Amino acid sequence: MMGVISTFGNFFCRIRLLFIVAVCLMIVGWGGFYVRDVTRYTPKYRSPVDNFWKCSSSEKKSEDNRPPPVMSTQTEPDVKICPVLSPELKGVLQLAFPPNLSLEDVQKKCPMVNNGHYQPETCRAQQKVAILIPHRNREKHLLYLLDNLHPFLQRQQLDYAIYVIHQAGDEKFNRAKLLNVGYLEALKEEKWDCFILHDVDLVPENDFNTYLCDSEPKHLVVGRNATGYKLRYKGYFGGVTAMTRNQFAMVNGYSNNYWGWGGEDDDLHSRVEFEKMTVVRPSPEIARYTMIFHTRDTGNEVNDQRMQLLRKVSKVWKTDGLNSCTYKLLSVEHEPLYINITVDIGKPHH
Ligand code: BGC
Repeated sequence: MMGVISTFGNFFCRIRLLFIVAVCLMIVGWGGFYVRDVTRYTPKYRSPVDNFWKCSSSEKKSEDNRPPPVMSTQTEPDVKICPVLSPELKGVLQLAFPPNLSLEDVQKKCPMVNNGHYQPETCRAQQKVAILIPHRNREKHLLYLLDNLHPFLQRQQLDYAIYVIHQAGDEKFNRAKLLNVGYLEALKEEKWDCFILHDVDLVPENDFNTYLCDSEPKHLVVGRNATGYKLRYKGYFGGVTAMTRNQFAMVNGYSNNYWGWGGEDDDLHSRVEFEKMTVVRPSPEIARYTMIFHTRDTGNEVNDQRMQLLRKVSKVWKTDGLNSCTYKLLSVEHEPLYINITVDIGKPHH
């Protein structure tokens, strides 16, 4: 009898043990599902800059987690990081283009700029930013841009330098190749986090249009005076564009083959799409520019090959770009307000 009771006792003990084990397994299982779901629905990391920029593109966001913009690598202790929106910003600016402005006037206004480079005194900038301006025969435009851009960038508390990349000779102008040269040469001087690819004739009208890079390539010109402040077309990516060092390297920079006006910015936009990145833009009230009026320059006639080139981007972008950009560097001069790179970029291959 005692034996039967003890067998039953053992049996119930085992059942109880099994029950406890089953309950534990269920709890662990539910826990696992919960954690998986929470991770799945947790929003992707957004940098502080991201929260400020409004994504105006309807293109699908890429699924993979791209790294946030690389932040400045300076390491001085006890220096606080400058805010994304500086307290010195004014908002809408009263732009001036005085007819008698001289380089000396601008220099006097910008005593804190040294060899084209500026760093805020009271805080450590969010990013190190290189402004690249392709240039030929537009001295007056350059002067107006420098006059407006230096105070604008300083109010934004940026650690920045302005590089003017000057095309030597009188071959057709090649904006895209000059920007590739600017990127490669600027990186020989400093490990810039962010590059602003900037037309010489566009002056920003609102200093909330921050010249910082984002976790996706950023197009800064939504509207300009000449076109009623309307975005030209959905995929428009020209004028002024901000890309991190890494974003620009991922797309192999610009094509080197666009000689004359047009197409190179559309080509860059295709590269960005091939790399599954999405273009972001600031709001239209902020991303406004004044275009300094000019007639088409000689040497920058419309490129009638551009449609043919655009049809081939998917086939050639990995071999035509930064990795195939050959040029002859003629000089690098550190002027007070900018670094002047003069380069022979060769001629079109027909
Ligand atoms: C050209 C671009 C240009 C745009 C806006 C397009 O047709 O291909 O290079 O930026 O027009 O003017």
